[in-house]
Amino acid sequence: MREFDLLNHIYQSNGKLPDAVTIAPGDDMGAIRIDDDTVLAAVDQLIDQVHVDLKSHSLQQVGRKAVTRNLSDIAAMAAKPLCALATAALPRDFGKARSDELFAAMRDTAAQYQCPLIGGDVSIWDGPLHLTVTVLATPAGIEPVKRSGGKVGDVICVTGQLGKSYPTDHHLNFEPRLEIARAIAEYPATRPHCMIDISDGLARDLGHLCEMSNTSAVIEQSKLPCRNGATWQQAVGDGEDYELLFATDHAAIGSPGTWDVLGVPITVIGRMIASEDKPSVTIKLENGQQLDLSNRGWEHQ
Ligand SMILES: [Mg+2]
Repeated sequence: MREFDLLNHIYQSNGKLPDAVTIAPGDDMGAIRIDDDTVLAAVDQLIDQVHVDLKSHSLQQVGRKAVTRNLSDIAAMAAKPLCALATAALPRDFGKARSDELFAAMRDTAAQYQCPLIGGDVSIWDGPLHLTVTVLATPAGIEPVKRSGGKVGDVICVTGQLGKSYPTDHHLNFEPRLEIARAIAEYPATRPHCMIDISDGLARDLGHLCEMSNTSAVIEQSKLPCRNGATWQQAVGDGEDYELLFATDHAAIGSPGTWDVLGVPITVIGRMIASEDKPSVTIKLENGQQLDLSNRGWEHQ
């Protein structure tokens, strides 16, 4: 069974949620109204040999990634971190010193991004290291940006670079794009109509924006910002880039190209177009060929 099928089953009951739930499952974070305020929440897991490899990654790197991939989901909503909670199921032979090192890495990373670790739970079992991190966030004056809301004619933009996130260790060292997201979402002219962080790969995550926005997308090979000589196939399919992918008004950007926010390049890579029968993602290759990418991208195990 695939992750998408499992998640779809959860989304089917979205219609039965209480009115206080303002963002239902299916976005980067859920949101619930509390009195006149809104709290956003997300949870993610990190499993040895699935998302990280304890044979080659340090505990510092693993603890950091457990927190930063959640912070990337906060960035995808243009929200502001509030706090984090962590659980760990540790292998029986893990030991106290390594456990302390791992939790210190999570705590220090969370503190660095003003998202204090305020609680959690530890247990010991016969399986591999299994971490979960829950984060809470607040809109803090900026309406959260959802995956829905993309419009035909929008330009599609991406921060930073794409591809080769494993061989370059980018998946361990990336900076969650919290400040950039808030900087572009704060002003009506540049505010994204829809946004997601790239975890599953550009093709698949752009597909999620298209499905939720009921649009299709066309991107151009020549415009892809490839990391360290990544091929276009790696740029669209590798995943774990943790960059922001969004669609916004063409007038805000002007002629296609690259713009710069807080020192990070943002590249226009394509456009939202009308869907024919169902949302699709197409790439125009430099040789003039057009390829449907709807089935490409890397899926978490
Ligand atoms: Mg996400």
